[in-house]
Amino acid sequence: MGNVLVIGAGGVGSVGVHKMAMLPERFENITLASRTLKKCDLIADSVEARFGKRIQTAEIDADDSKATAALIEKTQPDLVVNLALPYQDLAIMDACLMAGVDYLDTANYEPRDEAKFEYHWQWDYQDRFADAGLMALLGSGFDPGVTNVFTAYIRKHLISNMQTLDILDCNGGDHGQAFATNFNPEINIREVTAPARHWHNGAWVETPALSHKQSFDFPEVGARNMYLMYHEELESLSKHYPELTRARFWMTFGDAYLKHLEVLQNIGMTSIEPVLYEGREIVPLQFLKAVLPDPGDLGKTTHGKTCIGNIVSGTQDGAERHVYLYNICDHEACFAEVGSQAVSYTTGVPAMIGAALMLDGTWRQPGVFNLEQLDPDPFMKMLNENGLPWQYVDLDRPLDF
Ligand code: NDP
Repeated sequence: MGNVLVIGAGGVGSVGVHKMAMLPERFENITLASRTLKKCDLIADSVEARFGKRIQTAEIDADDSKATAALIEKTQPDLVVNLALPYQDLAIMDACLMAGVDYLDTANYEPRDEAKFEYHWQWDYQDRFADAGLMALLGSGFDPGVTNVFTAYIRKHLISNMQTLDILDCNGGDHGQAFATNFNPEINIREVTAPARHWHNGAWVETPALSHKQSFDFPEVGARNMYLMYHEELESLSKHYPELTRARFWMTFGDAYLKHLEVLQNIGMTSIEPVLYEGREIVPLQFLKAVLPDPGDLGKTTHGKTCIGNIVSGTQDGAERHVYLYNICDHEACFAEVGSQAVSYTTGVPAMIGAALMLDGTWRQPGVFNLEQLDPDPFMKMLNENGLPWQYVDLDRPLDF
């Protein structure tokens, strides 16, 4: 049993607290705090209507560590679950250190003025958390998150000598909008427009954004074009599994999404450099976010499935083995259960599971951790029990691209 303070009342925060409320034997008191109190209250009403549990709400500017530490003192959680934006990560980690409480997030820290997707700022907190006897769990979403656990599970049970890793993220859903992003547009567009990077023979290879395309036949979704990208779990996985000779990340995009993105990029709307407009500095990408559909509202109209998983090649007991381990998630089933589409769902459920395993002590230890550093088995069991079942198939050969 434990008490949690969840920060961030967006698409992921909503799923996170709904799923926590479904496990009252693990999550006793839940407080949802965010910049806009109204959004927390609406989510609290939905949780109560669906699962009969009342959660507490609060308003907080999580960029202000002292205010967050004061809220922690007031609500007395055992764990702070950060489901706000990557910009808040360090401020919330500081607040946890001030107030003496554990920390979990789903995305690595991002400075506002450069898109980096690097872990070093948060890994630098290792000694401070370890010395305080506190734990910080980094990246407990789907990717990063489940994909890290999938890699650890494959290494532990299926391929002890891993050589290559490919993470394939397919959203086969259709939201019926001309252009929308499935999670926070600012973070999503920063990620997609950044140069692609993959790990090869001990070094990063950088290629222009969206310049490598492959068609792949995804289970239960069908053939889709996927593009080589950089994604933050490649950094921790290549560090923790130095035996990997190659690690890549691929994401599917439809032609209409790419066409809109190209135009937006060409006219400067995806830039994070401030411009002067009527005497005031605005960041084009932040303005774009304000006019795009709210990802939290896409659930009503989205149908289709996501398929996210890992293909690993290597050897087991001296024999070559190629394994594809994946989850399929149905947008409409997620909406029926918690009122959100599958992209928020596949992130909010692993955040809940990471929190549960810290609260019950299974994963808890002092220091800063990525998920692959912890035993994958209890997490894999909870995925099956809480809406994200997984399966694997043996492939007869490695990927030929
Ligand atoms: P949203 O934009 O929908 O929600 C973000 C929430 O954070 C909003 O409620 C926002 O408040 C709140 N917030 C922003 N700034 C502050 C602040 N200073 N203080 C308090 N609250 C603040 O994002 P998502 O729910 O889509 O994403 C949440 C997180 O999950 C992001 O970090 C994202 O990168 C991550 N993510 C991770 C994935 C994974 O697989 N690992 C996949 C998808 C997302 P307001 O409503 O007032 O704007």
